[in-house]
Amino acid sequence: MKLKRIILPIFTLGVVGFALASCGSETDTNNDSQTNTGSDHTHTYGDWTTTKEATESEKGSREKTCTVCGDKVTEEIAKLDHDYEITYTWAADDSTCTARAVCKRDSSHVLEETVNSTTEAITEPTFLKAGTGKTVANFTNSAFTKQSRNVTFEIPMKNFERVENKVYFGTYPQTKVEATAENGLSSISFDNTWTSYRYYLYGKVADYMYYKDIDIDDNGTYDYRGVYFTDFRASNCLAASYDINTRQSLYGYTTYVKYWFKYEPIEWNILSEENGKALIVANPILDAQEFNPSDEGSSFVHNGKSGCDNNYELSSIRLWLNNNFYNTSFNSIQKAKIEETEVKNDAYSTGYTTNSYACDDTNDNIFLLSVQELAIYSEINPIIKATGTDYALCQNLFVSTDSGSSKTSSWLLRSPGSFSKTTPKSVVLVKEDGTKGNTDTKWTYNGVRPACWIEL
Ligand SMILES: [Zn+2]
Ligand SMILES: [Zn+2]
Repeated sequence: MKLKRIILPIFTLGVVGFALASCGSETDTNNDSQTNTGSDHTHTYGDWTTTKEATESEKGSREKTCTVCGDKVTEEIAKLDHDYEITYTWAADDSTCTARAVCKRDSSHVLEETVNSTTEAITEPTFLKAGTGKTVANFTNSAFTKQSRNVTFEIPMKNFERVENKVYFGTYPQTKVEATAENGLSSISFDNTWTSYRYYLYGKVADYMYYKDIDIDDNGTYDYRGVYFTDFRASNCLAASYDINTRQSLYGYTTYVKYWFKYEPIEWNILSEENGKALIVANPILDAQEFNPSDEGSSFVHNGKSGCDNNYELSSIRLWLNNNFYNTSFNSIQKAKIEETEVKNDAYSTGYTTNSYACDDTNDNIFLLSVQELAIYSEINPIIKATGTDYALCQNLFVSTDSGSSKTSSWLLRSPGSFSKTTPKSVVLVKEDGTKGNTDTKWTYNGVRPACWIEL
């Protein structure tokens, strides 16, 4: 910024008045008549007559005369202020703006200031919508006023934000909202454009629970997800759907009703940070899914490999994280920030020196934490209890009545339990009270807190 001040004006402010009173004391008013106590008349003054014009460098004067006695009142006229004509000139690329003030009375009286332009948001960008902005110039000299260009430009949608030890990254349906005419959801009906979740009933994929993503402002980013079901989601995905085998009815959800959830930025906790990269885990429980919809203790074959129910490499949760969750939550810019990770699934990752259910390592974008990674997390943040979003509850997340007002829920890890203590159907989870436990792979009511490595 360059500030060139050629003239330093010295202003004399106000009018200094004084009176010559030969006819006794006076009360100074603006009236032509003034009371003269103890004398034979009241002065009656004529109009002011300028006796010397004020200029920018010298004061002037004026006087008025009593038409009765000839008494004169004289007063100063203050020096004139510069009478500036101000022009503002933008650089061709709008990078700077120059303000120039030239005095109409003397063109050698000039004020000039050039400043770098800045941008100002008219509407702030969010994770769902671009903002708008304009170019402005703010001057330090109070003779000049703030300038702004009429042209507005788009401020790109937010894709990433770090606040201390948290990052905001990706969006997922979270808070429940009512359908209204204002948000545009009340006019949307359930039809064959809704997508089946392909959730299990009786251990088989079935079409009974559906969703629809809505881009209400048609800007390429989903704003709401609708959920609709014709049967309750079974807590045991190998069993039937009925009221007592579900959490949904406890939370007030019912069949044949549309429910709506707002896509919101996902809040993540940074667990570890190195070389500009960070291991992050979703702060809330975002969803509820079974680990594997397979029969208790059985060995099954997937892509030519056989494993037990608690085999993370072959699990349905791994596919769900890297397909459903990954594609729902991240746009292409955000996907580029996610590092494909060599996910360790050996015995050490499960917290034991030997574990017959440890599986091969996997290469994934998104994963569940292991027992060993949870230990890192617990060092940084001993409060590993987590709470589900409205959406996760709607997906059948179990909220323990024991958790009271904290409304915490259990969440899955990817590690199988110790072979000596558990069975082939068992995986480790963090319970509502923050302690570790084991769960069967078939339950749909355990929480999912996705994790990944990202470029910061
Ligand atoms: Zn008089
Ligand atoms: Zn001047």
